[in-house]
Amino acid sequence: MFFPILRRKKLHGILLDQPEEGNERCKTCGGVCCNSFAAIELTWEEYERLQSLGAHRLQLSLYGPHRLEIDYGCEFLAQGRCSIYEQRPDVCRRFTCRD
Ligand code: SF4
Ligand code: SF4
Repeated sequence: MFFPILRRKKLHGILLDQPEEGNERCKTCGGVCCNSFAAIELTWEEYERLQSLGAHRLQLSLYGPHRLEIDYGCEFLAQGRCSIYEQRPDVCRRFTCRD
């Protein structure tokens, strides 16, 4: 199971078993969770997908999960919305905040 790595401020949330589509709060919050963690963990397939989309802040790991650094804001966040929404990683699909 993948977890975002919390660094900047406390944002309480959980990873759902299944993606939650159509969360009304997410449409207006401006992507707080995309600014609140140091990194998100990626599968190899996700790593390759984000690389093909031009990601600059990828971390390849030989032993652990690969990562996309999102410290101080994910590079794919544009005007408060995810610019790769249809291709975002699984952890982004399953995270929901509780604040
Ligand atoms: S999960 Fe919470 S913080 Fe993230 S976009 Fe939705 S409402 Fe905003
Ligand atoms: S990929 Fe999209 S949903 Fe995931 S952290 Fe970046 S902007 Fe947010």
